[in-house]
Amino acid sequence: MAKNDQKTLDNNLYETLLKLIEKTSTVIPDDVQKEILKTLRKEQKNTSAKYAMEIIKSNIEIAKKKIQPLCQDTGTILFFVSHPVGFNQTHFTKVCHKAVVKATKLGFLRQNSVDPITGKNETMNIGPGHPSIHFHEHKKKTVEIKLMLKGGGCENVGAQYALPYTALEAGRDLDGVRKVILDAINKAQGKGCGPGVIGVCIGGDRGSGYIESKEQLLRTLDDKNENKILAKLEKDIVTSANKLGIGPMGFGGKTTLLGCKIGILNRLPASYYVSISYMCWAYRRQGINMRTDNKISKWLY
Ligand code: SF4
Repeated sequence: MAKNDQKTLDNNLYETLLKLIEKTSTVIPDDVQKEILKTLRKEQKNTSAKYAMEIIKSNIEIAKKKIQPLCQDTGTILFFVSHPVGFNQTHFTKVCHKAVVKATKLGFLRQNSVDPITGKNETMNIGPGHPSIHFHEHKKKTVEIKLMLKGGGCENVGAQYALPYTALEAGRDLDGVRKVILDAINKAQGKGCGPGVIGVCIGGDRGSGYIESKEQLLRTLDDKNENKILAKLEKDIVTSANKLGIGPMGFGGKTTLLGCKIGILNRLPASYYVSISYMCWAYRRQGINMRTDNKISKWLY
């Protein structure tokens, strides 16, 4: 390939990633907004819950109008890239870092990457493990990029349980899984800026379980799990969580959880993990399909 062609492709990829970061940071996906508006109607007038949901609604509208981040914590930057055979991951990472630095300078991302030893926050979001880029090879010819900006507050209330979990009498079965999921929601008590959505992985190991639980958050809120047993459990968790009375930001009310998405991974006979990732109302995820010239062909959410 001629050098100029490569330069054009790199430039297109840079612009594409910049646009993806901007939209993810400033515009809530349609499916999430729809769910927030639906639950807002359910809360009673003159309650703290209704007030909190109205503030969330205005926040979403203002961020979109002013093209400003939905929340001051622009979170961990998680890219999920599905690509055909032969895709150059090293090159993508290089261009991606450039786009992240630019987005940070423009204010779509907060300078948010702290050295754990020195406590210094001096880089433009580039450092070991940040941004976090997950590559998957697929059979399609096109590249699909999804981005999630996951806030620190909601990450803090994620949890991982090893079953059996005697404190809750949660055994190694779906009833045990249900108990620990509801326990995690109850312990959060609206912290991590509820109402939220939980992504769950049943099985896997401690590392793969958490990654799968985050990938579940890439599903749209209105989709239905293809696995009938999990679909039933997802519905049950949302209904049961919304009866806990925790409500938006823990103010009480009917809206504790907007959604629950559950996936599975095979486990070892000796272990049974349930990994739970919590996403706050500022549910920043977007995605695109890219043409072969690295321009956006379609927005995914
Ligand atoms: S948990 Fe979410 S809404 Fe709350 S401060 Fe963090 S990013 Fe913002």
